[in-house]
Amino acid sequence: MEKKTIIEKEIVIETDFLKKNDEIAERVKKMLESQQVRAYDIMGSVGAGKSSLIISLVKRLKNEKRIYAIAGDLTTHIDADRIKNAGAEVVQINTGRECHLNANTIYESISRINLKNYDLIFIENVGNLICPADFNLGTNKRIVVISVTEGPHMVLKHPYTFWSADIVAINKTDLAGYVEVDPNKLERDLKHVNPRAKVYKCSCKTGEGIENLIGEMLK
Ligand code: ZN
Repeated sequence: MEKKTIIEKEIVIETDFLKKNDEIAERVKKMLESQQVRAYDIMGSVGAGKSSLIISLVKRLKNEKRIYAIAGDLTTHIDADRIKNAGAEVVQINTGRECHLNANTIYESISRINLKNYDLIFIENVGNLICPADFNLGTNKRIVVISVTEGPHMVLKHPYTFWSADIVAINKTDLAGYVEVDPNKLERDLKHVNPRAKVYKCSCKTGEGIENLIGEMLK
């Protein structure tokens, strides 16, 4: 019984914390809406292909859309450099020990730029599939990137993250045969966990599926 009480206390504190985050996320959302900027929270494990996806998107969209990217990472700026080289303006946010981005970070980041100068904002969240899902960033859509190289059980092991996704990109389909993971199995798991999510099988390397994904994002 004693243990149960302790757990309940922790839940109350966490709920309060997340409620504050949601309030700031709402502010971010309004700021973006007022300037007709669309933003995307891109989540996924380390190595799933979040940066590669952003780079694919930037390369295809940079001539028609003004793009700003926010790259979250614990300590490095490797991804930010790659995205910059693809042709987007990028700000790097090193989160240190924080394993996720929160709405306040995004609020501060977009307060420093003139939103009138941009059409799209891609936010690369910190690489993990657990806590980023709890923190609403005020974006229009949440995209979760998963790759076949992560094995066949990723979706079922992280139901909350996938449950919160608007779009899921099943990446590295070109490697599916080598790693013996069936992208259709991942898609079936996704339909089970989150029937609302739009699922796109793609390969940032070959370009397969990216145009369809973009179509869905810009809807
Ligand atoms: Zn975290």
